[in-house]
Amino acid sequence: MSVTEQLTSVQQRISQACQRSSRPAHQVQLLAVSKTKPLNMVLEAYAHGQRHFAENYLQDALDKIANNPNKDIIWHFIGAIQSNKTKTIAEHFAWVHTLEREKIAQRLNDQRPLHLPPLKVCIQVNISNEDNKSGVTLAQLPILAAKVNDLPNLELQGLMCIPAANQPEAAQAEMFTSMVQALHELQVLYPHAKQLSMGMSGDLELAIAHGATMVRIGTDIFGPRATPV
Ligand SMILES: *Cc1c(COP(=O)(O)O)cnc(C)c1O
Repeated sequence: MSVTEQLTSVQQRISQACQRSSRPAHQVQLLAVSKTKPLNMVLEAYAHGQRHFAENYLQDALDKIANNPNKDIIWHFIGAIQSNKTKTIAEHFAWVHTLEREKIAQRLNDQRPLHLPPLKVCIQVNISNEDNKSGVTLAQLPILAAKVNDLPNLELQGLMCIPAANQPEAAQAEMFTSMVQALHELQVLYPHAKQLSMGMSGDLELAIAHGATMVRIGTDIFGPRATPV
């Protein structure tokens, strides 16, 4: 199937999932995860109306961003962030979904070019409490949220998670429910933080049923990746 056909099918899955949970379809933003895929695939999705794209690997992303002629694409960074990458991320992306450290928040803030609007950030939560997983624990979340809120060049948008893979559906559902709860608690202090970035190719329906506002879809739009990342 072509990118256009696969994108259409993902859009249909999203609108059906929204209907089943009586949510308006515009509440769920589709992020096309183009990591490791060539620019021509991004451009095909763009031609079909897709505007939000997400990338994990900085160099791979920068090449596409530099060569992309469409300035209305909104680029989201969803990979691990090392300190030496913050400047480039702050300069080239509109969104970061994988914020998990105060030091990184400070650097992104300091390095955000002033001619750009504040960088929109979601805090990544290690919702399955896995030792080797990225993200803050729910206990650490308020501290990082307060830090982000104090930084003028960052704008706290919400929370993001990558639940442990290969869980039974009930366990996945429980993690998504904990995310909804965490967002509600966050909104007591930061009512403008409205986004729940969760749901990938394998679990987008379940994530939408549990209140996801941004789903990050790679494989089901662009096909399998050569290296599973
Ligand atoms: C790769 C990736 C995705 C997309 O995963 P698919 O299963 O290919 O849809 C979403 N979010 C993050 C953080 C990723 O790294």
